[in-house]
Amino acid sequence: MTRPLDEVAADAAGCTKCRLAAGRTQVVFGVGDPNADLMFIGEGPGFHEDKQGEPFVGAAGQLLTRMLAEIGLTREAVYINNVVMCRPPGNRDPQPDEIEACTPWLIERISLIQPRLIVTLGNFATKFVLATPLGITRVRGAVHEWHGRKVIPTFHPAAILHGGGEKSKQFTSLQEDFALIKATLDSMPTDAAAPAEPTMPPTPLPAPIPAPARPSAPGITERLATVIRLEPELPDPDQLGLF
Ligand code: SF4
Repeated sequence: MTRPLDEVAADAAGCTKCRLAAGRTQVVFGVGDPNADLMFIGEGPGFHEDKQGEPFVGAAGQLLTRMLAEIGLTREAVYINNVVMCRPPGNRDPQPDEIEACTPWLIERISLIQPRLIVTLGNFATKFVLATPLGITRVRGAVHEWHGRKVIPTFHPAAILHGGGEKSKQFTSLQEDFALIKATLDSMPTDAAAPAEPTMPPTPLPAPIPAPARPSAPGITERLATVIRLEPELPDPDQLGLF
């Protein structure tokens, strides 16, 4: 049975399913249109996000907002969220058990919002969603299929800023990826002509919360472990590894 997104957000605000709860100011659930066709998934909240309770509000968020504007979109027209909802201390990478603990929340958001296009920002979100060992530089610039919807991986805006901003080669790639996002959205049939909305499959994704006593559906733990296992050099504390 589904429940409204705001009800899920209220429930998530008190989540203590992993150790990240201890150091957060607040849970950063997600923001935007609950019926958005386009969803962005990043890694986790940073300092400003933790303080303000909204994802992508710092410098990286400003770059994301600008890139959206360049393709004629606003933050309000899309949905923006992260793999984990609480800020890892010192902006370290989320640990595998923290990601696994937070996965049901992400799955529930995807299940309720039903975006037709997901854009993964950086290595963490991309490897989690696509379950690929390949880094972002290898998989970006293309449209991937995932559970009946499309996925476009691109660089995390924070990585662009760390790597030289507009002067960097990655910024040009980011612009190309946003052009691809627009072209992909434009090529999608309108609601009237669209086929039935894609639905999240029951497996290998975990069932929505609340289910503290319910084990994850088969495959998710193994899948997460695989994603992490294939990430030996990732990433340093200031998210440079998002490249
Ligand atoms: S990171 Fe996710 S699972 Fe962990 S306490 Fe925060 S909301 Fe709960």
